[in-house]
Amino acid sequence: MFIVKCDACGFEQVVKKRLDSDVYEALKHNNGLYCDRRVCDGMSQVVPGSFKKTWGIFGGWTVVQPMDLETYKSVKRAKKILEMGIAQMNSKD
Ligand SMILES: [Zn+2]
Repeated sequence: MFIVKCDACGFEQVVKKRLDSDVYEALKHNNGLYCDRRVCDGMSQVVPGSFKKTWGIFGGWTVVQPMDLETYKSVKRAKKILEMGIAQMNSKD
């Protein structure tokens, strides 16, 4: 059993499901945890140096995780590829 607490409104939810170790670790080492209420809206919270993940296993909770260097690189790479794709699309017009 695990209790998740929203950093915005303080709402606590008891998770009775068994969590896999990845999810469990992420929940333990989070930079922020936001419930699924629209007012809390974890996806628009600004936490520098972090990335956000939404898990559907216990509702629409958003977990803000510290971004390690590897993750940062892959996110940056993905963004670069996306930008290159957009630039290419634009140049065809
Ligand atoms: Zn909340």
